[in-house]
Amino acid sequence: MFWRLFSLGLCQAVAAGLGWYLAPRGEQWQIALAMALLGGYVWFVLDSARGLRLLGWLRAGATTDVAIGNGLWGEAYDRVRRILRATNKLAADSDNRLKDFLAAMQASPNGVVLLDSDARIEWFNQTAATHFGFDVQRDLLQHLGNLVRDPEFAAYLTARNFGHDVVMHGKENRDSKPVKLSVHLHPYGEGRMLLLSRDITAKEQAEAMRRDFVANVSHEIRTPLTVLAGFVETLQTLPLDEQERQRYLGLMSQQAQRMQTLVSDLLTLSRLEGSPSPSMNEWVSVDVLMRQCEQEARDLSHVLWTQSHDLRFERTPGCEIAGSTLELHSAMSNLIGNAIRYTPAQRSIEVGFKRQADGGAVFFVTDQGPGIAQEHIPRLTERFYRVDRSRSRDTGGTGLGLAIVKHVAQRHGAELSIDSVPGKGSTFSIVLPASRMRCTPGT
Ligand code: ADP
Repeated sequence: MFWRLFSLGLCQAVAAGLGWYLAPRGEQWQIALAMALLGGYVWFVLDSARGLRLLGWLRAGATTDVAIGNGLWGEAYDRVRRILRATNKLAADSDNRLKDFLAAMQASPNGVVLLDSDARIEWFNQTAATHFGFDVQRDLLQHLGNLVRDPEFAAYLTARNFGHDVVMHGKENRDSKPVKLSVHLHPYGEGRMLLLSRDITAKEQAEAMRRDFVANVSHEIRTPLTVLAGFVETLQTLPLDEQERQRYLGLMSQQAQRMQTLVSDLLTLSRLEGSPSPSMNEWVSVDVLMRQCEQEARDLSHVLWTQSHDLRFERTPGCEIAGSTLELHSAMSNLIGNAIRYTPAQRSIEVGFKRQADGGAVFFVTDQGPGIAQEHIPRLTERFYRVDRSRSRDTGGTGLGLAIVKHVAQRHGAELSIDSVPGKGSTFSIVLPASRMRCTPGT
């Protein structure tokens, strides 16, 4: 204020002085006074021009700097500029925070949809777009009920009872590839809603598999248990002679053996699922494994059939596999055992081990059994899946053998491949990767 009064006074004094100096004698006082008034007027015009400049700068959005100078207008300009800078920084900070927040929601593995108080879509992440088939260009500000038309969800949205979630099919649901979502609405703010969606397909499938598995195991155990209980009752109630007693006890032992094999296969499977992959530093001789399997195969063929098979084992000395002896033996003997159980006596069964050009190797079992129709092949490694139930049971099968083989193969980085022609026979192969093979040169 002092500067303002001082500059006005100075302006008037200079103008008055100039009037006094230039005026003819006798009129000096009048002219000096007139000039002082004129000086005041000039000062006022210049001062107003600076004020107008500041106003123009504000009207233009205060984006670029202007030279206003010192004094009242200068200070006003400076203070406004500082306030604006602080406000802009605050706005930029909140903008960045909002961007970070939306990026975090975008990265969420769950679908996130923000809805306004009329259930219109304000924002959604990519996962929600996939779950519900939303499109950013088309669906923003659309009513959620118009886009998600599942009847159960529509009822849920209308009832506004958001204490629980709703399970519905995802947009990409197909008969061949089901997609199940768990969808939950959470109210927040003033009538707004947050919709969260979670893909629960894998969880539901695992749950269904668990249920099937328990049902299958119960069924598999119930059958021999019922037979056993029947024999026990017979032995307790009927006066049997020694020969009959022995026959019944033999049959009971068979059923007990069946349950034992089932429990042992189940334990093998759970061990395979629960333990880390076999070491890469433990080397198993293929020749030793093959010799062991050959002996067991001859014994099994002899026990199961009155006349044995034509068993041919090809020898490949000098090769070793990195892995678990127990697991590899179990997989090989399962495949050989199946060939013996399903191939009629006297036909040939060939077992071999071939090196591959890429350094890997293939263990194969080829039989002249009944063969398997193409539609069964993809399902053979499912637990308890059997093509011929009675044949499997009669020969002591549990329906878990190929599931065990597949697991062992996977744990060794290998693959189980099945080729079969109904009426002609089958070849089951375990294709081992080069990384798990080591052979002496020349083999
Ligand atoms: P199982 O204990 O019933 O043999 P697996 O898992 O070993 O169970 O085999 C699954 C089904 O695959 C068998 O029930 C059988 O129908 C079929 N299968 C397996 N190996 C052969 C084979 N060599 N020849 C014909 N069918 C086979």
